[in-house]
Amino acid sequence: MTVETAAQVIDGKAFAAGLRGRIADAVPAFVAATGRAPGLAVVLVGDDPASAVYVGSKGKATVAAGMASFEHRLPATATQDEVETLLARLNADDAVDGILLQLPLPGHLDEQAAVAAIDPDKDVDGLTPVSAGRLALGIPGMVPCTPYGCLLLLQDRLGDLSGKDAIVVGRSILVGKPMGQLLLGANATVTMAHSRTKDLPALVRRADIVVAAVGRAEMVKGDWIKPGAIVIDVGINRLPPADGAAKGRLVGDVDYAEVAAVADAITPVPGGVGPMTIACLLRNTLVAAHRRAGLADPEGF
Ligand code: NDP
Repeated sequence: MTVETAAQVIDGKAFAAGLRGRIADAVPAFVAATGRAPGLAVVLVGDDPASAVYVGSKGKATVAAGMASFEHRLPATATQDEVETLLARLNADDAVDGILLQLPLPGHLDEQAAVAAIDPDKDVDGLTPVSAGRLALGIPGMVPCTPYGCLLLLQDRLGDLSGKDAIVVGRSILVGKPMGQLLLGANATVTMAHSRTKDLPALVRRADIVVAAVGRAEMVKGDWIKPGAIVIDVGINRLPPADGAAKGRLVGDVDYAEVAAVADAITPVPGGVGPMTIACLLRNTLVAAHRRAGLADPEGF
């Protein structure tokens, strides 16, 4: 008889709920010290329905944590100048601690220039060149929410990451690159893999920690995984609908069934990394608010 050991499921939804609760608990002390709530401004340009849903849920989570939410909508026809003028106004607004420019922007706009117009101290998405530079240099700054959420899940599971062999599959500015920097900062030995990497399965097989951020459904297979590894699946991919279904199933970049039979622990999709992203956005807003007010960073985040 073969006995398969199933991996533990890393419950990102529960972890994120706990983090959001701790953030909400920390808000009253900030209000008492400053006379105002931390504020997050979200800017949506155009009327992309998925972006509108994200912006709505970010606003609700902000208010639920006791923070002030400011939503700014510009039409799809907005000019670069209009977007940057709004960002400059938010940079100068003392009630605003965090600015999130919902991406993607309509095609006629210069996304990089718009992101770079955000004050790095309010850059709660961690996407400005200054934030990326601070992360690379290891000085305090704003860290992109999704990889920061992955780091929290890994540290919760493993404690100290020193000396662990980690591989990050994917090198995007949003996820892969900052994830690599965070793991390096936590003293892991980091391999960065991408579409030109040779013999990816062999590299993944060496790793104690696997972070998959590729955007390819179920690419990472069970026989790529070292027994006992921790697997963080950032991917969100929708499969084609099965017969008669209106929508296909959501899956990650990891073949969950195969990998769960080998790994020590794995994040599910949905319910793993996804919920951590908004929780870390609130965390970044709280931290940015403290730094802007000249207060010490809140403890435990
Ligand atoms: P990008 O498309 O920006 O980057 C994908 C990366 O994967 C690139 O670096 C690319 O390499 C690499 N890649 C592509 N194909 C292969 C391959 N066959 N082998 C190895 N590497 C490959 O994606 P993102 O980083 O923005 O997102 C990745 C996934 O995470 C997506 O599914 C996205 O939906 C999801 N996501 C989830 C979030 C969440 O909150 N849970 C938040 C953000 C993203 P190269 O650079 O060489 O082209």
